Amino acid sequence: LATRIHGMGTTIFTEMSALAAQYGAVNLGQAFPDFAGFDVAKEAARTAIANDLNQYAPMTGQPALRQALAEHAARFYNMTIDPQAHITITAGATEAIFATLLGLVNPGDEVVLFEPFYDSYRPAVEMAGGNVRVVTLRPPTFAPDPDELRAAFSARTKAIVVNTPHNPTGHVFTEEELRLIAELCQEHDVVAITDEVYEHIVFEGHRHVRLATLPGMWERTITISSAGKTFSLTGWKIGWAIAPEHLTAAVRRTHQFITFAVATPLQEGIAAALREAEARGYYAHLVADYTARRDFLCTVLREAGLRVFEPQGTYFVLTDITPLGFDDDVAFCRFLTTEIGVAAIPPSAFYVNKEEGRRLARFTFCKTWQTLEAAAERLRKLR
Ligand code: PMP
Ligand code: GLN
Repeated sequence: LATRIHGMGTTIFTEMSALAAQYGAVNLGQAFPDFAGFDVAKEAARTAIANDLNQYAPMTGQPALRQALAEHAARFYNMTIDPQAHITITAGATEAIFATLLGLVNPGDEVVLFEPFYDSYRPAVEMAGGNVRVVTLRPPTFAPDPDELRAAFSARTKAIVVNTPHNPTGHVFTEEELRLIAELCQEHDVVAITDEVYEHIVFEGHRHVRLATLPGMWERTITISSAGKTFSLTGWKIGWAIAPEHLTAAVRRTHQFITFAVATPLQEGIAAALREAEARGYYAHLVADYTARRDFLCTVLREAGLRVFEPQGTYFVLTDITPLGFDDDVAFCRFLTTEIGVAAIPPSAFYVNKEEGRRLARFTFCKTWQTLEAAAERLRKLR
């Protein structure tokens, strides 16, 4: 094996889903909806296949999808985006993050991550030859500590990855928190890479702010998102990066040799979904639906004896496992999966400082009521 992958194990998602399958556990671990995705997208993709839109898309993405994304950015964020110059379609947000880091980071550069972090960030930084600097988000609010954040920036800092709404804490970064990040990026000449895949899953009382829209940030931000979470189509892996020309150059230079282009008919499907979602009340429905599921799961977890950190966005709930007498997340999640029959994710996989995540467990509520009720039934055995 190449030295660059020494120390990279199997991702925790694969590991826990395999364990869940082996023990017939209800899977509240790896987050993928077990209900149907947006029918407008599915119908449009079927039509695209029937109409033989089945050859390579342009390297930058299908024009219809880039156009729909420019309109989406104008509608929700008041941004003026040039679909030709500023948007690149990738194989999910995962490829966009990887292509971006490979295109920007030199060996020895530092990249600031908030921990807990989505598990692909660190290997991507390291495969690019960079070093990770972490800023820890701590319960109960998971807001960044301004002094710790400031201390993470130096002359070696090349980029910061900002995931908001944040997986796994459910924290939605406030405008004030983002302003400090913006100030530090400008002071130290740092590029911001945002991961906004949960941009449409934000609960009442909170608002998603796009870092690229803050003063001085458009020219130094790569905004990444994808269709998987918004349209409940995680298996389609259609994502994108939005950035000014000089940063788009970095994304496209690597993307052209990683995948070159991604599934043409699925891009057409997502273009139709973006064009029609709002008029059909889709986004409002998504939030109402996830609010009900969040409230249900939070209540169940509380009644099972866990301390619940109610999420402001995303479809995850972090819990403190110590009230049940556990202090090791891996042991707890293994016990829960094999003995109780409910799979969860041990968050220490998302930390450099493992100790910080050892007393937590992550549950997802992107599941049917039937699945959530089956989990609830089993979780009652915990008491
Ligand atoms: N970022 C975050 C924060 C995520 O939770 C996920 C999905 N688990 C991704 C990126 C990956 O998105 P995609 O499936 O579009 O590659
Ligand atoms: N994003 C999903 C999660 O956080 C899983 C993604 C994956 O399996 N790589 O659960």
